[in-house]
Amino acid sequence: MENETKFVIKGGRVIDPANDIDEVLDVYVEDGMISRIGGKKNYQDRAVIDATGKLVMPGLVDIHTHLREPGREDAETIQTGSLSAVRGGITSICCMANTTPPVDSSAGVRFIYDRARYAHCWVYPVAAISKGLKGEELAEMFDMAMAGAVGFSDDGRPLSNAQLLRNAMTYAKMFELPLMLHEEDLTLSSGRHMHEGVASGLAGMQAVPSVAESGMIARDVLLAEFLEARIHICHVSAKESVDVVRVAKERGVDVTAEATVHHLLLTDEDVVASGFDSNFKMNPPLRAKDDLAALIEGINDGAIDAIVTDHAPHPPEDKDCEFAVAPFGVIGLETSASLVYDKLVRPGIIDVKKMVELMSYNPARIVDISAGTLSQGANADIAIFDPEHKWTVSGRAMASKSRNTPFEGWELTGKPVWTMVGGEVAFDELSR
Ligand SMILES: [Zn+2]
Repeated sequence: MENETKFVIKGGRVIDPANDIDEVLDVYVEDGMISRIGGKKNYQDRAVIDATGKLVMPGLVDIHTHLREPGREDAETIQTGSLSAVRGGITSICCMANTTPPVDSSAGVRFIYDRARYAHCWVYPVAAISKGLKGEELAEMFDMAMAGAVGFSDDGRPLSNAQLLRNAMTYAKMFELPLMLHEEDLTLSSGRHMHEGVASGLAGMQAVPSVAESGMIARDVLLAEFLEARIHICHVSAKESVDVVRVAKERGVDVTAEATVHHLLLTDEDVVASGFDSNFKMNPPLRAKDDLAALIEGINDGAIDAIVTDHAPHPPEDKDCEFAVAPFGVIGLETSASLVYDKLVRPGIIDVKKMVELMSYNPARIVDISAGTLSQGANADIAIFDPEHKWTVSGRAMASKSRNTPFEGWELTGKPVWTMVGGEVAFDELSR
Protein backbone atom coordinates (compact mmCIF):
# COMPACT_ATOMS: atom_id res chain seq x y z
CA MET A 1 0.00 0.00 0.00
CA GLU A 2 2.66 2.50 -1.05
CA ASN A 3 1.62 6.02 -1.83
CA GLU A 4 3.47 8.97 -3.28
CA THR A 5 0.95 11.58 -2.17
CA LYS A 6 1.87 13.74 0.79
CA PHE A 7 -0.91 14.61 3.20
CA VAL A 8 -1.52 16.94 6.06
CA ILE A 9 -4.43 16.29 8.38
CA LYS A 10 -5.08 19.75 9.67
CA GLY A 11 -6.68 21.11 12.82
CA GLY A 12 -7.98 17.91 14.41
CA ARG A 13 -7.75 16.88 18.05
CA VAL A 14 -5.00 14.28 17.95
CA ILE A 15 -5.32 11.41 20.43
CA ASP A 16 -2.23 9.21 20.63
CA PRO A 17 -1.84 7.38 23.95
CA ALA A 18 1.54 5.94 22.90
CA ASN A 19 3.00 9.44 23.01
CA ASP A 20 0.60 10.85 25.59
CA ILE A 21 -0.81 13.30 23.06
CA ASP A 22 -4.26 14.87 23.35
CA GLU A 23 -3.97 18.18 21.56
CA VAL A 24 -5.03 20.02 18.42
CA LEU A 25 -2.14 19.37 16.03
CA ASP A 26 -1.46 18.82 12.35
CA VAL A 27 -0.45 15.33 11.25
CA TYR A 28 1.92 15.01 8.28
CA VAL A 29 2.04 11.89 6.11
CA GLU A 30 4.76 11.04 3.58
CA ASP A 31 5.76 7.78 1.89
CA GLY A 32 3.00 5.90 3.67
CA MET A 33 4.31 6.90 7.08
CA ILE A 34 3.64 9.53 9.72
CA SER A 35 6.40 12.02 8.94
CA ARG A 36 5.68 14.37 11.83
CA ILE A 37 3.03 15.72 14.19
CA GLY A 38 2.75 19.44 14.88
CA GLY A 39 5.67 21.79 14.24
CA LYS A 40 5.93 24.37 11.49
CA LYS A 41 2.82 24.60 9.31
CA ASN A 42 3.39 23.52 5.73
CA TYR A 43 0.28 23.02 3.62
CA GLN A 44 2.02 23.29 0.24
CA ASP A 45 2.46 20.45 -2.22
CA ARG A 46 0.30 18.12 -0.22
CA ALA A 47 -3.31 17.04 0.05
CA VAL A 48 -4.90 18.94 2.92
CA ILE A 49 -7.50 17.08 4.98
CA ASP A 50 -9.47 19.44 7.19
CA ALA A 51 -10.14 17.67 10.48
CA THR A 52 -11.31 20.71 12.41
CA GLY A 53 -13.71 19.63 15.15
CA LYS A 54 -12.82 15.97 14.60
CA LEU A 55 -10.76 13.42 16.53
CA VAL A 56 -7.63 12.13 14.81
CA MET A 57 -6.51 8.78 16.17
CA PRO A 58 -4.28 5.89 15.20
CA GLY A 59 -6.30 3.46 13.06
CA LEU A 60 -8.15 1.01 15.27
CA VAL A 61 -6.89 -2.55 15.65
CA ASP A 62 -9.35 -5.42 15.98
CA ILE A 63 -7.60 -8.60 17.06
CA HIS A 64 -10.69 -10.81 16.96
CA THR A 65 -12.59 -11.11 13.69
CA HIS A 66 -13.96 -13.91 11.54
CA LEU A 67 -13.69 -13.23 7.81
CA ARG A 68 -15.10 -16.59 6.64
CA GLU A 69 -12.65 -16.93 3.77
CA PRO A 70 -11.85 -19.61 2.73
CA GLY A 71 -15.05 -21.64 2.64
CA ARG A 72 -17.96 -19.35 3.46
CA GLU A 73 -17.53 -16.51 0.99
CA ASP A 74 -21.32 -16.16 0.98
CA ALA A 75 -21.08 -14.86 4.57
CA GLU A 76 -17.96 -12.68 4.23
CA THR A 77 -14.70 -12.38 2.34
CA ILE A 78 -11.40 -10.79 3.25
CA GLN A 79 -12.36 -8.08 0.77
CA THR A 80 -15.81 -7.28 2.22
CA GLY A 81 -14.73 -7.74 5.83
CA SER A 82 -11.79 -5.39 5.42
CA LEU A 83 -14.01 -2.82 3.69
CA SER A 84 -16.36 -3.06 6.63
CA ALA A 85 -13.35 -2.52 8.90
CA VAL A 86 -12.12 0.71 7.30
CA ARG A 87 -15.67 2.07 7.34
CA GLY A 88 -15.45 1.54 11.09
CA GLY A 89 -12.09 3.32 11.47
CA ILE A 90 -10.26 0.00 11.78
CA THR A 91 -6.97 -0.34 9.90
CA SER A 92 -5.67 -3.70 11.15
CA ILE A 93 -7.65 -6.88 11.76
CA CYS A 94 -6.64 -10.31 12.99
CA CYS A 95 -8.76 -13.09 11.55
CA MET A 96 -9.44 -16.29 13.41
CA ALA A 97 -8.58 -19.70 12.04
CA ASN A 98 -12.02 -21.35 12.10
CA THR A 99 -12.63 -21.11 8.37
CA THR A 100 -13.43 -24.01 6.05
CA PRO A 101 -10.87 -25.50 5.93
CA PRO A 102 -9.32 -24.05 9.08
CA VAL A 103 -6.04 -22.15 8.91
CA ASP A 104 -3.97 -24.91 10.49
CA SER A 105 -0.98 -25.05 8.13
CA SER A 106 1.61 -22.66 6.74
CA ALA A 107 -0.21 -22.89 3.38
CA GLY A 108 -3.33 -21.63 5.12
CA VAL A 109 -1.45 -18.70 6.64
CA ARG A 110 0.06 -17.86 3.26
CA PHE A 111 -3.39 -18.05 1.63
CA ILE A 112 -4.70 -15.38 4.00
CA TYR A 113 -1.73 -13.08 3.32
CA ASP A 114 -2.12 -13.71 -0.39
CA ARG A 115 -5.80 -12.73 -0.36
CA ALA A 116 -5.03 -9.83 1.97
CA ARG A 117 -3.01 -8.12 -0.76
CA TYR A 118 -6.34 -6.99 -2.17
CA ALA A 119 -7.83 -6.08 1.19
CA HIS A 120 -8.77 -2.56 2.27
CA CYS A 121 -6.75 -2.77 5.49
CA TRP A 122 -3.96 -4.83 7.03
CA VAL A 123 -5.09 -8.39 7.66
CA TYR A 124 -3.18 -10.70 10.00
CA PRO A 125 -3.94 -14.39 10.33
CA VAL A 126 -4.31 -16.04 13.70
CA ALA A 127 -3.45 -19.71 13.15
CA ALA A 128 -5.04 -22.75 14.71
CA ILE A 129 -3.54 -24.33 17.79
CA SER A 130 -4.76 -27.81 16.98
CA LYS A 131 -5.08 -29.66 13.67
CA GLY A 132 -8.53 -29.17 12.23
CA LEU A 133 -9.45 -27.28 15.45
CA LYS A 134 -10.19 -30.70 16.88
CA GLY A 135 -8.25 -30.18 20.10
CA GLU A 136 -6.50 -33.51 19.70
CA GLU A 137 -3.14 -32.87 18.08
CA LEU A 138 -1.07 -29.69 17.77
CA ALA A 139 -1.01 -28.02 14.37
CA GLU A 140 2.35 -27.14 12.78
CA MET A 141 2.84 -24.13 15.00
CA PHE A 142 6.48 -23.56 14.04
CA ASP A 143 5.73 -23.50 10.30
CA MET A 144 2.77 -21.19 10.81
CA ALA A 145 4.81 -18.84 13.00
CA MET A 146 7.45 -18.71 10.25
CA ALA A 147 4.73 -17.98 7.68
CA GLY A 148 3.67 -14.95 9.70
CA ALA A 149 0.85 -15.99 12.03
CA VAL A 150 0.50 -13.29 14.69
CA GLY A 151 -1.01 -15.60 17.28
CA PHE A 152 -2.60 -18.99 17.76
CA SER A 153 -6.20 -19.79 18.55
CA ASP A 154 -8.81 -22.51 18.18
CA ASP A 155 -11.40 -19.76 18.69
CA GLY A 156 -14.92 -21.04 18.37
CA ARG A 157 -13.83 -24.00 20.42
CA PRO A 158 -11.95 -24.37 23.71
CA LEU A 159 -8.87 -26.50 24.30
CA SER A 160 -10.37 -29.00 26.68
CA ASN A 161 -7.23 -31.11 26.86
CA ALA A 162 -4.90 -29.44 29.37
CA GLN A 163 -1.86 -31.46 28.28
CA LEU A 164 -2.33 -30.28 24.70
CA LEU A 165 -2.63 -26.70 25.94
CA ARG A 166 0.54 -27.18 28.00
CA ASN A 167 2.39 -28.26 24.87
CA ALA A 168 0.96 -25.33 22.92
CA MET A 169 2.07 -22.91 25.64
CA THR A 170 5.58 -24.29 25.52
CA TYR A 171 5.77 -23.83 21.75
CA ALA A 172 4.12 -20.42 21.67
CA LYS A 173 6.67 -19.25 24.20
CA MET A 174 9.50 -20.16 21.84
CA PHE A 175 7.98 -18.06 19.06
CA GLU A 176 6.94 -15.28 21.46
CA LEU A 177 3.42 -15.35 20.03
CA PRO A 178 0.24 -15.18 22.08
CA LEU A 179 -2.13 -18.08 22.54
CA MET A 180 -5.57 -16.53 22.21
CA LEU A 181 -7.87 -18.74 24.21
CA HIS A 182 -11.58 -19.32 23.79
CA GLU A 183 -12.56 -20.39 27.29
CA GLU A 184 -15.48 -22.74 27.64
CA ASP A 185 -16.11 -25.91 29.56
CA LEU A 186 -18.15 -27.84 27.02
CA THR A 187 -19.47 -30.22 29.66
CA LEU A 188 -21.31 -27.22 31.13
CA SER A 189 -22.21 -25.44 27.91
CA SER A 190 -23.00 -27.87 25.11
CA GLY A 191 -26.44 -27.54 23.60
CA ARG A 192 -27.18 -24.38 25.59
CA HIS A 193 -28.11 -21.04 24.12
CA MET A 194 -28.03 -18.18 26.60
CA HIS A 195 -26.63 -17.09 29.95
CA GLU A 196 -27.86 -19.04 32.97
CA GLY A 197 -29.57 -16.55 35.25
CA VAL A 198 -32.90 -14.99 36.07
CA ALA A 199 -33.76 -14.25 32.44
CA SER A 200 -33.11 -17.81 31.24
CA GLY A 201 -35.02 -19.17 34.21
CA LEU A 202 -38.10 -17.12 33.39
CA ALA A 203 -37.85 -18.03 29.72
CA GLY A 204 -37.25 -21.70 30.43
CA MET A 205 -34.25 -21.67 28.08
CA GLN A 206 -31.35 -24.14 28.34
CA ALA A 207 -28.53 -21.95 29.61
CA VAL A 208 -24.76 -21.69 30.13
CA PRO A 209 -23.50 -20.78 33.60
CA SER A 210 -20.69 -18.23 33.96
CA VAL A 211 -18.46 -20.86 35.54
CA ALA A 212 -18.28 -22.62 32.15
CA GLU A 213 -16.03 -19.69 31.22
CA SER A 214 -14.43 -18.56 34.48
CA GLY A 215 -13.47 -22.09 35.53
CA MET A 216 -11.53 -22.65 32.32
CA ILE A 217 -9.83 -19.26 32.61
CA ALA A 218 -8.75 -20.18 36.13
CA ARG A 219 -7.23 -23.42 34.85
CA ASP A 220 -5.43 -21.66 32.05
CA VAL A 221 -3.98 -18.71 33.97
CA LEU A 222 -2.63 -21.19 36.55
CA LEU A 223 -1.14 -23.31 33.78
CA ALA A 224 0.41 -20.19 32.22
CA GLU A 225 1.79 -19.21 35.63
CA PHE A 226 3.26 -22.68 36.09
CA LEU A 227 4.92 -22.62 32.65
CA GLU A 228 5.72 -18.89 32.66
CA ALA A 229 3.85 -18.73 29.36
CA ARG A 230 1.94 -15.87 27.84
CA ILE A 231 -1.79 -16.13 27.12
CA HIS A 232 -4.54 -13.87 25.92
CA ILE A 233 -8.12 -14.52 27.00
CA CYS A 234 -10.70 -14.01 24.27
CA HIS A 235 -14.10 -12.40 24.81
CA VAL A 236 -14.28 -12.33 28.62
CA SER A 237 -17.96 -12.08 29.48
CA ALA A 238 -18.53 -13.00 33.12
CA LYS A 239 -17.88 -11.12 36.35
CA GLU A 240 -16.01 -14.09 37.84
CA SER A 241 -13.80 -14.22 34.74
CA VAL A 242 -12.79 -10.59 35.18
CA ASP A 243 -11.95 -11.36 38.81
CA VAL A 244 -9.82 -14.36 37.82
CA VAL A 245 -7.90 -12.35 35.22
CA ARG A 246 -7.36 -9.49 37.67
CA VAL A 247 -6.00 -11.81 40.35
CA ALA A 248 -3.79 -13.54 37.79
CA LYS A 249 -2.33 -10.19 36.78
CA GLU A 250 -1.69 -9.35 40.43
CA ARG A 251 0.16 -12.66 40.73
CA GLY A 252 2.36 -11.64 37.80
CA VAL A 253 0.91 -14.01 35.22
CA ASP A 254 1.64 -12.89 31.66
CA VAL A 255 -2.01 -12.64 30.67
CA THR A 256 -4.02 -10.14 28.67
CA ALA A 257 -7.75 -10.12 28.06
CA GLU A 258 -10.33 -8.70 25.71
CA ALA A 259 -14.04 -7.89 25.92
CA THR A 260 -16.38 -7.52 22.98
CA VAL A 261 -18.42 -4.42 22.27
CA HIS A 262 -21.67 -6.37 22.62
CA HIS A 263 -20.79 -7.77 26.03
CA LEU A 264 -20.01 -4.22 27.18
CA LEU A 265 -23.39 -2.91 26.02
CA LEU A 266 -25.99 -5.68 26.10
CA THR A 267 -27.31 -8.20 28.63
CA ASP A 268 -29.48 -11.32 28.77
CA GLU A 269 -32.44 -9.02 29.39
CA ASP A 270 -31.89 -7.62 25.90
CA VAL A 271 -32.11 -11.16 24.55
CA VAL A 272 -35.53 -11.53 26.12
CA ALA A 273 -36.63 -8.01 25.14
CA SER A 274 -35.70 -8.77 21.52
CA GLY A 275 -38.15 -11.67 21.58
CA PHE A 276 -35.23 -14.10 21.24
CA ASP A 277 -33.99 -12.53 18.04
CA SER A 278 -31.13 -14.74 16.81
CA ASN A 279 -29.01 -11.59 16.32
CA PHE A 280 -28.69 -11.59 20.11
CA LYS A 281 -27.24 -15.10 20.17
CA MET A 282 -23.49 -15.29 20.59
CA ASN A 283 -20.88 -17.39 22.34
CA PRO A 284 -20.13 -16.57 25.10
CA PRO A 285 -23.72 -15.46 25.67
CA LEU A 286 -24.80 -11.97 26.70
CA ARG A 287 -24.72 -12.10 30.47
CA ALA A 288 -26.37 -10.29 33.36
CA LYS A 289 -26.17 -6.64 34.45
CA ASP A 290 -23.57 -7.46 37.13
CA ASP A 291 -21.35 -9.02 34.52
CA LEU A 292 -21.61 -5.98 32.27
CA ALA A 293 -20.71 -3.77 35.24
CA ALA A 294 -17.69 -5.98 35.98
CA LEU A 295 -16.50 -5.68 32.38
CA ILE A 296 -16.77 -1.89 32.59
CA GLU A 297 -14.77 -1.97 35.80
CA GLY A 298 -12.28 -4.25 34.05
CA ILE A 299 -11.66 -1.91 31.13
CA ASN A 300 -11.22 0.94 33.58
CA ASP A 301 -8.80 -0.71 36.00
CA GLY A 302 -6.78 -2.61 33.39
CA ALA A 303 -8.01 -6.15 34.05
CA ILE A 304 -9.31 -6.01 30.47
CA ASP A 305 -6.77 -4.75 27.94
CA ALA A 306 -8.67 -4.57 24.69
CA ILE A 307 -12.08 -4.13 23.12
CA VAL A 308 -12.75 -6.34 20.09
CA THR A 309 -15.67 -6.98 17.77
CA ASP A 310 -15.62 -10.79 17.48
CA HIS A 311 -17.13 -9.90 14.08
CA ALA A 312 -18.92 -13.14 13.16
CA PRO A 313 -20.89 -12.82 9.93
CA HIS A 314 -23.72 -15.22 9.17
CA PRO A 315 -25.93 -14.75 6.11
CA PRO A 316 -29.67 -14.26 6.68
CA GLU A 317 -30.50 -17.77 5.45
CA ASP A 318 -28.46 -19.16 8.36
CA LYS A 319 -29.45 -16.64 10.99
CA ASP A 320 -33.15 -16.13 10.20
CA CYS A 321 -34.41 -19.00 12.30
CA GLU A 322 -35.39 -19.95 15.80
CA PHE A 323 -33.04 -18.81 18.57
CA ALA A 324 -32.27 -22.33 19.71
CA VAL A 325 -31.05 -23.52 16.30
CA ALA A 326 -29.37 -20.31 15.06
CA PRO A 327 -25.57 -20.14 14.82
CA PHE A 328 -23.67 -18.02 17.36
CA GLY A 329 -22.24 -14.62 16.51
CA VAL A 330 -22.86 -11.06 15.41
CA ILE A 331 -21.12 -8.62 13.10
CA GLY A 332 -19.42 -5.54 14.51
CA LEU A 333 -16.66 -3.98 12.41
CA GLU A 334 -18.69 -0.98 11.23
CA THR A 335 -20.30 -0.20 14.56
CA SER A 336 -17.63 -0.80 17.23
CA ALA A 337 -16.02 2.66 17.32
CA SER A 338 -19.35 4.48 17.21
CA LEU A 339 -20.90 2.32 19.90
CA VAL A 340 -17.94 2.64 22.24
CA TYR A 341 -17.83 6.39 21.68
CA ASP A 342 -21.56 7.00 22.05
CA LYS A 343 -22.26 4.59 24.90
CA LEU A 344 -19.01 4.71 26.91
CA VAL A 345 -17.12 7.91 26.05
CA ARG A 346 -19.99 10.38 25.76
CA PRO A 347 -21.51 9.42 29.15
CA GLY A 348 -18.03 9.70 30.72
CA ILE A 349 -17.59 6.00 31.55
CA ILE A 350 -14.20 6.08 29.81
CA ASP A 351 -12.38 8.97 28.17
CA VAL A 352 -11.42 9.06 24.53
CA LYS A 353 -7.77 8.36 25.28
CA LYS A 354 -8.83 5.16 27.03
CA MET A 355 -10.98 4.28 24.01
CA VAL A 356 -7.93 4.55 21.75
CA GLU A 357 -5.83 2.54 24.20
CA LEU A 358 -8.44 -0.24 24.30
CA MET A 359 -9.19 -0.27 20.58
CA SER A 360 -5.82 0.51 19.02
CA TYR A 361 -2.71 0.80 21.17
CA ASN A 362 -3.19 -2.18 23.50
CA PRO A 363 -4.49 -4.66 20.91
CA ALA A 364 -1.56 -3.84 18.60
CA ARG A 365 0.82 -4.69 21.43
CA ILE A 366 -0.97 -7.95 22.26
CA VAL A 367 -0.30 -9.35 18.78
CA ASP A 368 2.88 -7.31 18.38
CA ILE A 369 2.09 -5.64 15.07
CA SER A 370 3.38 -2.22 14.06
CA ALA A 371 0.17 -0.28 14.58
CA GLY A 372 -1.69 1.59 17.26
CA THR A 373 0.33 4.79 17.30
CA LEU A 374 0.86 8.04 15.43
CA SER A 375 4.57 8.08 16.27
CA GLN A 376 6.91 9.56 13.69
CA GLY A 377 7.92 6.78 11.29
CA ALA A 378 4.87 4.63 12.07
CA ASN A 379 2.64 3.31 9.29
CA ALA A 380 0.20 6.03 8.31
CA ASP A 381 -2.81 4.14 9.66
CA ILE A 382 -5.15 6.89 10.77
CA ALA A 383 -8.82 7.26 11.63
CA ILE A 384 -10.67 10.55 11.70
CA PHE A 385 -13.70 10.37 13.95
CA ASP A 386 -16.51 12.93 13.88
CA PRO A 387 -17.87 13.13 17.45
CA GLU A 388 -21.02 14.95 16.32
CA HIS A 389 -22.01 12.82 13.34
CA LYS A 390 -25.47 11.31 13.94
CA TRP A 391 -26.40 8.12 12.14
CA THR A 392 -28.62 5.07 12.43
CA VAL A 393 -27.26 1.53 12.38
CA SER A 394 -28.54 -0.49 9.44
CA GLY A 395 -27.25 -3.97 8.64
CA ARG A 396 -28.42 -3.50 5.07
CA ALA A 397 -26.22 -0.43 4.58
CA MET A 398 -23.04 -2.16 5.71
CA ALA A 399 -20.21 -3.36 3.50
CA SER A 400 -20.28 -6.73 5.22
CA LYS A 401 -21.97 -9.53 3.30
CA SER A 402 -23.97 -10.32 6.42
CA ARG A 403 -26.41 -8.22 8.43
CA ASN A 404 -26.57 -9.96 11.77
CA THR A 405 -26.21 -6.97 14.07
CA PRO A 406 -28.03 -6.69 17.40
CA PHE A 407 -27.74 -2.91 17.11
CA GLU A 408 -30.10 -2.53 14.14
CA GLY A 409 -31.92 0.79 14.30
CA TRP A 410 -29.74 2.26 17.08
CA GLU A 411 -29.28 5.99 16.68
CA LEU A 412 -25.69 6.87 17.44
CA THR A 413 -23.73 10.07 17.79
CA GLY A 414 -20.12 9.84 16.63
CA LYS A 415 -18.73 8.02 13.61
CA PRO A 416 -15.48 7.26 11.82
CA VAL A 417 -15.55 9.42 8.69
CA TRP A 418 -12.11 9.04 7.12
CA THR A 419 -9.65 6.18 7.26
CA MET A 420 -6.11 5.97 5.95
CA VAL A 421 -4.24 2.69 5.64
CA GLY A 422 -0.50 2.81 4.94
CA GLY A 423 -0.76 6.31 3.50
CA GLU A 424 -3.71 5.53 1.22
CA VAL A 425 -7.21 6.85 1.78
CA ALA A 426 -9.29 3.72 2.36
CA PHE A 427 -12.58 5.37 3.36
CA ASP A 428 -13.75 8.95 2.94
CA GLU A 429 -17.05 10.28 4.17
CA LEU A 430 -15.41 13.52 5.31
CA SER A 431 -15.54 15.37 2.02
CA ARG A 432 -19.21 14.51 1.45
ZN1 LIG B 1 -14.61 -17.42 20.64
